[in-house]
Amino acid sequence: MNTKTIEVTVFYMVLQGYHAIIYPSDYACTLCEDPTQVTFNFIVVGGGSAGATVAARLSEVPEWNVLLLEAGDDPPELTENPLLWNHNLRTKYDWAFFSEKNPLLCKGMEQEKCIISRGLMLGGSSSINAMVYLRGFVRDFNQWKYNYGCHGWSFKDVLPYFKKSEDFVDLSRLDPDVHSVGGMLTVTPLKTHDQAYKVIAEAQELFNVNKLEDLNIIEPAVGYGNFDSTTRNGRRCSILKSFLMPVSNRSNLYVAKNTIVTKIIIVDGVAVGVEFKCSSGEIKSVFLYKRSGIVCWTYKKSTTSYAFWNRTKRTFKRTRYSCH
Ligand SMILES: Cc1cc2nc3c(=O)[nH]c(=O)nc-3n(C[C@H](O)[C@H](O)[C@H](O)COP(=O)(O)OP(=O)(O)OC[C@H]3O[C@@H](n4cnc5c(N)ncnc54)[C@H](O)[C@@H]3O)c2cc1C
Repeated sequence: MNTKTIEVTVFYMVLQGYHAIIYPSDYACTLCEDPTQVTFNFIVVGGGSAGATVAARLSEVPEWNVLLLEAGDDPPELTENPLLWNHNLRTKYDWAFFSEKNPLLCKGMEQEKCIISRGLMLGGSSSINAMVYLRGFVRDFNQWKYNYGCHGWSFKDVLPYFKKSEDFVDLSRLDPDVHSVGGMLTVTPLKTHDQAYKVIAEAQELFNVNKLEDLNIIEPAVGYGNFDSTTRNGRRCSILKSFLMPVSNRSNLYVAKNTIVTKIIIVDGVAVGVEFKCSSGEIKSVFLYKRSGIVCWTYKKSTTSYAFWNRTKRTFKRTRYSCH
């Protein structure tokens, strides 16, 4: 895409109200000045896909103070436009790691190393990714549970959560066994004027390749089809936007930006706090409330509940909150 097109697209986004996006307010200054000002029940490291979701979910309990520490800043305007997604790669918003040398990989690259992009901003890689909504194969999930002992990870186990999180906008293709509406993450069919898609579709017909209306069908999806995307009204729908921003005004949720965690402080095998680097370069520490770890545990076979681990007494105190 040439510079002119980028300028026009960015201008269009401004007209569309990019300026109206209100990112979570930044707690970093206060945290760096006095990390003891608030007592935290949970500290979440990294405000990416997982961290942003976990922090949002934990802060549903008003009595719990949740601190989310993110190494990066708010996403830039360029992350908004799906067509320009790759323009954010190798910028300051990308960790741009290098792969290790491997006899089978990246042979054509300089020093035989590839760049491994990861988002360095709120929303993490969901703010830099290509927005393809592909859940993964049923067989893989089942293998994680049945072959590797990952309890709760079979496809049957995770499907309700995929559905719970989803707002599938194409009602004409909505199969209620697979998709759902009303969730926080907007899933929209790909719309493109790119001629390449047309040509590929014609080739698919010519060769009689199976046409798939939905790449997330439960049976193995073998064939050709357009993917759905995590976009909303033509813009990126990152995990930041879908899960964290709608709840970021909660008074028990604290988001510190440009704050890099340098160490997890572990005492007697329990994580009690973290060491972090402020944007000034100063290193500080923040500890969990009463230095208690918090775990999610199962009791009475089927019921799951949170419990506070008291490090001194080495006992659990069960709370009334359920994990679900
Ligand atoms: C270029 C690219 C394209 C992709 N395309 C797709 C796609 O089309 N479809 C798809 O489903 N998936 C795609 N993915 C993958 C998907 O985005 C990731 O798998 C997912 O976002 C990972 O989530 P995560 O929470 O594990 O990590 P991330 O979302 O990367 O979050 C990690 C967060 O932790 C922060 N962090 C790291 N270290 C520290 C520290 N020490 N202190 C504080 N904060 C820290 C990071 O800055 C980041 O915000 C893509 C990924 C990339 C990079």
